Amino acid sequence: MATTAHSAQQTLFTNASQVVTCAGAARARRGPEMSDAGVRTDVCVAIDADRITAVGALRDLRVQFPGAREIDCRGGVITPGLVDSHTHGVFGRPRYDEQEMRAAGLDYMEIARRGGGIHSSVRDLRTQSEDTLFELARLRLLRLASFGTTTVEVKSGYGLTLADELKTLRVIARLAEALPLRIVPTFLGAHEIPLEHRGTAASRQGYVDLIVHEMIPAVAAGKLARFADVFCETGVYTVDESRAILSAARAAGLLIKLHADELTSSGGAELAASLGATSADHLAAISDTGIAALAQSATVATLLPGTMLFLGKTKHAPARRLIDAGIPVALATDFNPGTSPTPNLPLVLTLGVSQLHLSVAEAVIAATVNGAAALALADRIGQIAPGFAADLAVFDVRDVRELPYWYGDNRCIATFARGKACYTSDLGLT
Ligand SMILES: [Zn+2]
Repeated sequence: MATTAHSAQQTLFTNASQVVTCAGAARARRGPEMSDAGVRTDVCVAIDADRITAVGALRDLRVQFPGAREIDCRGGVITPGLVDSHTHGVFGRPRYDEQEMRAAGLDYMEIARRGGGIHSSVRDLRTQSEDTLFELARLRLLRLASFGTTTVEVKSGYGLTLADELKTLRVIARLAEALPLRIVPTFLGAHEIPLEHRGTAASRQGYVDLIVHEMIPAVAAGKLARFADVFCETGVYTVDESRAILSAARAAGLLIKLHADELTSSGGAELAASLGATSADHLAAISDTGIAALAQSATVATLLPGTMLFLGKTKHAPARRLIDAGIPVALATDFNPGTSPTPNLPLVLTLGVSQLHLSVAEAVIAATVNGAAALALADRIGQIAPGFAADLAVFDVRDVRELPYWYGDNRCIATFARGKACYTSDLGLT
């Protein structure tokens, strides 16, 4: 009986054409390390409950794990569950109306000045109930899982009052409970300067003080976030304001991230490096000194090419220069209602290859091991190796290079987080 109870937890994932292990050091990969995705053929993956226990030949694993359940992967490719390390996944109304404004020539800052952009999502979220936001986000995050993602970082930042930021973070906590996905909460009270604090310098400083003295202590006391983040950008938060907010967050026990150098080079990358941020995100306008600063740091550069594509911009982050400088690069969707509404992380891999000039292996590492490192989880997720979490994605392709190739298509058959199914396609797995 003991054997039966034990083996019920054990599962072999068999009949994969490739297992993309990404196995190696349990930390961010840099430079040439990003070129090896650890592709293996003729192997299966064994898991026991929520852990990976072995990668090896089927006949060996059947001996090692007698009675294990077997899941036939139908000749597909198994990768580590993809890690989407930058999303704004809790919001109400989608902002499809802004697409045509952009097409007509209005830029991001102009739309923001007209009360659109983030402010329109803020107005909307403040009117939405916690239950409505939860249900909207639950369905949207399941869409992310359906494309191969098993870990999602989710930021607050459309509330911008103490009550509405805490409301958003409670929604994220409920999502983490309700969904099999692994969810990492980030406090982004500094996503914008709320309109009601824009009148005078004193009122603007009043909002920074509110973040530092009320929001961060409340978030930390409620254990509602693992990270704090700031939108450091010309016209949004200055480097000095960002430093004050992130220093307070770190002192309160939160890890830190930064939206840096997205549209203009404003010293964000340098600030992220000097504060020891876990990641600096966007970086499309990073300066040479920013690159030099990140190269001397442990900060992961998280690139979001889907945002640039959707905004109609042709200037992408200098991914090759970052990798050549030895900076670990991650890729994420930036899933949000205004500037990147895609749940499709494999599509971002396509952009990584076609727009950022990454190899497929580099793009895969960027959305697995380095995405995990961007969430300070590289010791637990992002690779298929014994001891790591049983977070897996199975794709209906024969070669990992097909993953960014069938762009926009969804080839994901199934995702598993901690050994539990997050998503199974109509093709199914039995
Ligand atoms: Zn963002």
